[in-house]
Amino acid sequence: MLILLLIKFTLILAIAGLLNSGLRKAPASTRHLIWLSALGGVFLLPLLSVILPALSFRLAHPGQGLIEITQTLSLGVSHRNFLDLGTPLICCWLSGVVAGVVRALYAAIAVRTLARNSRPLHAPEYRVPILISNGETMPLVFRLFKPTVILPASAADWSERKRRLVLLHELAHIQRRDLWSQALAQWVTIVYWFHPLVWFAARRMQSESEMACDESVVRSGVTPSDYAAELLDVARSLQWRKSWSGRALAVARNSHLESRVHAILGGVRRGSIWTRIAVLSVVVAILLSAALRPEPSLVPRIYELPSSTILIREQPVYPEAAKRRGISGIVTIRAHVAPDGGIKEVECLSGPDDTLKSAAIEAVRHWRYQPVSVEGYTIIKIYFSLYK
Ligand SMILES: [Zn+2]
Repeated sequence: MLILLLIKFTLILAIAGLLNSGLRKAPASTRHLIWLSALGGVFLLPLLSVILPALSFRLAHPGQGLIEITQTLSLGVSHRNFLDLGTPLICCWLSGVVAGVVRALYAAIAVRTLARNSRPLHAPEYRVPILISNGETMPLVFRLFKPTVILPASAADWSERKRRLVLLHELAHIQRRDLWSQALAQWVTIVYWFHPLVWFAARRMQSESEMACDESVVRSGVTPSDYAAELLDVARSLQWRKSWSGRALAVARNSHLESRVHAILGGVRRGSIWTRIAVLSVVVAILLSAALRPEPSLVPRIYELPSSTILIREQPVYPEAAKRRGISGIVTIRAHVAPDGGIKEVECLSGPDDTLKSAAIEAVRHWRYQPVSVEGYTIIKIYFSLYK
């Protein structure tokens, strides 16, 4: 099941990556939305797989009713082998998660310390709290519930134009709720730290959010070359600490700066119908991969008796009433097999309908195995199907 989930994650992220590489000329906000949907899908996939009804494709038409039987027999074999393999894996995963949580807490403390060493700036026209730090730190925005901007100490001497350009970028982050998408990316990378594509997607989403804010600044009527020049100046003269990553969004980190300047000078980009289709197809891929799932297996396959050990296997009768009402599905039965090969007890674990359950129980009661030296339980799955 876990492997299937990992395959689905990989597929969703790969689809998002492919779509984005085909949308280089689209607005960065579209590419950001595609990464955000993909990472959100990865985060929600385990939950969606439970909530959404399972999808199965049947191309044939209803027939007379078919019965398929599969079974697993356990004969006093403990589950220790399965756990022996699982425990170190779970411990390894948990230690990665703990390391991620510690890193996130460290970032939160680092940004909070920076804020504590800052003083408020009176600028009511921007409608968000603005702080001036006591060092030459890169302008950044932080706090999920009450977004706040921190400017460097030298910002007090900045020209009105420079301050406006920098704040326009930070306000765009707030308006786009980028701190929330960053928080989502942070949690996805903490939980799925072992998946390299998750890290790649989170990094790409981050840089697309920077470009989307640049686009929003340029769209507000600013001269692109002026904005690009200020961006380079801020990147060159101010400090960004890696420890703030995940908790704050800065105006100009050195990564991807060249491509950002290139994009800013390229002017405003507009979305097309194709960009909307691309976003929609990621959402469809997520929903489809959540809904597509194999029949659940109730017990680990431990030991299987060769079919020759069954001496008598009475075929269950498909109840007419169930056929008429179109009821089909799997009835799972646990049977207690005595050392003489006879069935001591039959218990129905699950099934779609009472008539199917009774039909399955009735048949299994008459089964007979080859005598064995120990008693055991066998799990029998009987698939009542109306399709050929
Ligand atoms: Zn930014």
